[in-house]
Amino acid sequence: MKKICIVLLLIFFCWGCHKGLKHSDREANGKIQVLSSTAMIDDLVGMIGGEEIDHSSLIQGNIDPHSYELVKGDGEKISQADVVFYNGLGLEHGASVKNQFEKHPRAVALGDRIYSQKKEAFIFVEGQIDPHIWMDVALFSEITLPIAEVLGEIDPDHAPLFRERAVRLKEKMLMKDQELFILMQKLPSEQRFLVTSHDAFHYFTKKYLANPDEENWEKRLIAPEGLAPDGQMSVLDIKQVAEFLCEHQVHVVFPESNINQDSLKKIVAICREKGLHVKIAATPLYGDAMAGAKSHLEMIEHNVQTLIQNLDPGVEQESGNRSSTTHSQL
Ligand SMILES: [Zn+2]
Repeated sequence: MKKICIVLLLIFFCWGCHKGLKHSDREANGKIQVLSSTAMIDDLVGMIGGEEIDHSSLIQGNIDPHSYELVKGDGEKISQADVVFYNGLGLEHGASVKNQFEKHPRAVALGDRIYSQKKEAFIFVEGQIDPHIWMDVALFSEITLPIAEVLGEIDPDHAPLFRERAVRLKEKMLMKDQELFILMQKLPSEQRFLVTSHDAFHYFTKKYLANPDEENWEKRLIAPEGLAPDGQMSVLDIKQVAEFLCEHQVHVVFPESNINQDSLKKIVAICREKGLHVKIAATPLYGDAMAGAKSHLEMIEHNVQTLIQNLDPGVEQESGNRSSTTHSQL
């Protein structure tokens, strides 16, 4: 019995040293450890936290955040973070991710937090809240102050600095929002229709593609794969998209960087049978991942530029040869 007690004491002592070492490491570093679910949130967190924090995103690269499940090392990243920021609104619905976030003492669902204060700005699709709020730069800028507030609670000495940076970032985002809106609206209204792989672009369509206060803005957008790209696409879905293309005389569909193009290829083939020439845009849109963009703003700017280049009839004429090459490659 005595031996068992000694062994237990030794284990407890070593565990204490290990924990203490980790803790003093963090103290020596002096920085808040912040983990965000997506790269878009992490981008804003990095600008607000600056040198005073260490930050990273859980879901990196071209990976679908809807159904992301934890991989080796993720659990440790979550448990070691002082705070976890995530989108919420049902975006991160992978069971293992949801479970770990719920267990964390300071996991903040930023989308849910701003939803309670700004309900009128949110979109519902077939009774389900649309989580893709980063697609509307002005709406996404609403998460800046809550981020600063939470960082300030953990590190009160730097709270005014976090707040100041958040206010500046929000101003910058609101300016960019207006710039992108003006740019997009230069396209004739009858050209502003969008077909993408999945329903990531409702906020984008309402804000930038539709005319201001347009009642039926959702008629400008259709996607065969629904809100989360893990659903099965039905024959009816494909037929509806093909009809949409014919009705609005849309000649281009847009792939998304993190989703395969099978559904779009089927649609292009059906349209061809109906005599409508449709191409898949050579440059994908960035839907659920920043992909090739270095920041959230660069991501949305990329989408606006890609749409203008492909939907603008003037640009289409100039690049006519390139378009037919793309088409013949399909
Ligand atoms: Zn999505």
